[in-house]
Amino acid sequence: MSYRVPPAEVLAVAIADVLREHGAISSQRLFAHFVREKLQCIDKDYSVTEERVRRTAIQSGLVTVEVETRDTGIKVKGGRCPVCDSRMRKVRNSTLYGGSVILGYRCTSCPYKMGTTKRVPVKYTFHDALPRVRCRTERKTEQRTL
Ligand SMILES: [Zn+2]
Repeated sequence: MSYRVPPAEVLAVAIADVLREHGAISSQRLFAHFVREKLQCIDKDYSVTEERVRRTAIQSGLVTVEVETRDTGIKVKGGRCPVCDSRMRKVRNSTLYGGSVILGYRCTSCPYKMGTTKRVPVKYTFHDALPRVRCRTERKTEQRTL
C-alpha cells in the first residue's frame, strides 16, 4: 500500500479542523485518526503518523497539550522533549552554600516538565488552543430600501 505525506500546511489545516469540531481529544491515537480522515478527504492516499500530528499541532500553536507520564526511575541529564522534540532547559534551585542543584527539566516550547529521572508519556489530551469567535448578537441583515 502506498501513501503520500501531506505538506505541513495541509496537515495544519486538517488539525485545526479536527480541533474545531471536537474541542478536546483525550487520546493521541484518536486525534491522529480524525486528522487522517480529514486528510483523506483531500487525497485518499494521504497518511500521517501519530508523532507527526502531535508535533505539528504543538509547534504550530494549534493545541495545548496535557501529558500524563510514568516515571522510569532512570536518571537523565536533559535531552530532547519527548512530547515535541524541543530543547529541555534545566530547572535549578540555589543552595545555602552559593551553588545550585538541578531539580529537573522543563521544555522550552511546550508545558512538559520532569524531575531528574526519565519520564515517558503515557497519555495525551489535546485541547483546541485557538480562540473561538462567538456571535452574541445577530447582525442586522435588513437591507435598506431606497
Ligand atoms: Zn516539549
